[in-house]
Amino acid sequence: MFSDYFLAKKKLYPQLAKGKFRRLKNYLNIIFLSIYSFSSLLRYDRGDSAPNQAIMIDIPNSKAYFFFIEIWPSEVYYLAAILIIMAVTLFFITSLFGRIWCGYACFQTVWTDLFIAVERFFQGDRNQRILLDRKNNFKKYFLKTLTHLTWIIIALFTGLIFCSYFSDSWLLWQNIFLLNISPTIIGWTAGIGFMTYLMAGFAREHVCIYMCPYARFQSSMFDNNTLIISYDQKRGEPRAKYHQNDDFANRGHCIDCKQCVVVCPTGIDIRNGLQMECIACGLCVDACDEIMTKVGLPKGLIRYDTLNHLHDPLKFKKFTIWQFRTFYYLTILAIVCSLTLFSLNTKSTVDLSVSQERNPLFVKLSDGSIRNAYYLKIINKTHHLKSFKIRINNSSQAILKIANYSDAIVDVEAESSFVFKFFITLPYEFDENLQQKVIELEIDDDQEKRYVSVVFINN
Ligand code: SF4
Ligand code: SF4
Repeated sequence: MFSDYFLAKKKLYPQLAKGKFRRLKNYLNIIFLSIYSFSSLLRYDRGDSAPNQAIMIDIPNSKAYFFFIEIWPSEVYYLAAILIIMAVTLFFITSLFGRIWCGYACFQTVWTDLFIAVERFFQGDRNQRILLDRKNNFKKYFLKTLTHLTWIIIALFTGLIFCSYFSDSWLLWQNIFLLNISPTIIGWTAGIGFMTYLMAGFAREHVCIYMCPYARFQSSMFDNNTLIISYDQKRGEPRAKYHQNDDFANRGHCIDCKQCVVVCPTGIDIRNGLQMECIACGLCVDACDEIMTKVGLPKGLIRYDTLNHLHDPLKFKKFTIWQFRTFYYLTILAIVCSLTLFSLNTKSTVDLSVSQERNPLFVKLSDGSIRNAYYLKIINKTHHLKSFKIRINNSSQAILKIANYSDAIVDVEAESSFVFKFFITLPYEFDENLQQKVIELEIDDDQEKRYVSVVFINN
């Protein structure tokens, strides 16, 4: 049977864990959700010709803005550099701290946590939710409806906030309150909202286990000194149920309460060893620490630890970030970040390119002189109008004429590009044996002189 290849989705009812990692996750969720929600409202003055939104992707004009950084379509290699920096940072963090990105910072984790919090608010914690699902009464459908309505509102807000990074966010919110929303915004909000509702409300841990490619190759970045979630088997086994005043002398410290399993958002039992499903969220650590405190045993039966230290604490030191890999990853990051920043800070504010008219390549005029036509594209990336004086630098015989201009001065508006057709004419006698000549153009905007070369075709 085809369906035999697929595991049926088992519904999980993660229980609320109490402890330092749960608190840390709450604080980080608030920080990440606030960054996502409010960053598009930040302003950054770029003058009248450019949007004053600090972070924005301006699709109609094909530009991206991030505070002082502006990326034009011709500079997509900066996006490649940013992706390389993000990838190296992720590899670096994973090689040291395991999957903490997944457990604390991934969008899927943050939004799923938020959706579970809503579910818990309306339907109660794990046991109440299990009981509610077994019933078939008005209360169940009422609470489920409230949960789903809240999820849908959150999902739609997520979609709207996403759109606010692609247009003026203040104007967008103003238009939303005036119910003046364009079909494009409605479409994107519905699309992103639907995906959020689906992924955080239903798919949840299945995204981490089956869909996310990062989960598949993360183990290649682990070694025995990587910080992972570890169950201390030597201390915990043989496990046995606990009864009040039990003695732990001839048994392990695990009381088989399964609290580490019921709080796990991916539903695994970490006592079976590190598994691909573990997103290193630390909630099982909190759950087990709480149990250890209750039975009067030291915390840390489940903990963040390295395999080396876990297996031989006398021989290997506790986890430290001062490892060899820290230095080489930091060196790679420092080099890539410095090169990218240097390049961004020194990048040209004007781009020039020249192409020659191909048909005809040259024209012989009635007086015997030869004329070639070219197209000069000037991209003015500054926020003010610029005037460019164009002259020929290396030939006193050549005559320059810009089509539709009486002189050789052209203006280009701020943040825009313009293509000018121009002609170069040379008397036939300039060198009748020479088939082509390189002519250098000087383009001066009163601040900087730039040079481009064109090839003049003689015959
Ligand atoms: S929470 Fe701790 S004591 Fe309870 S089953 Fe898990 S490892 Fe054992
Ligand atoms: S095993 Fe522990 S750390 Fe891993 S996902 Fe489950 S609760 Fe989180």
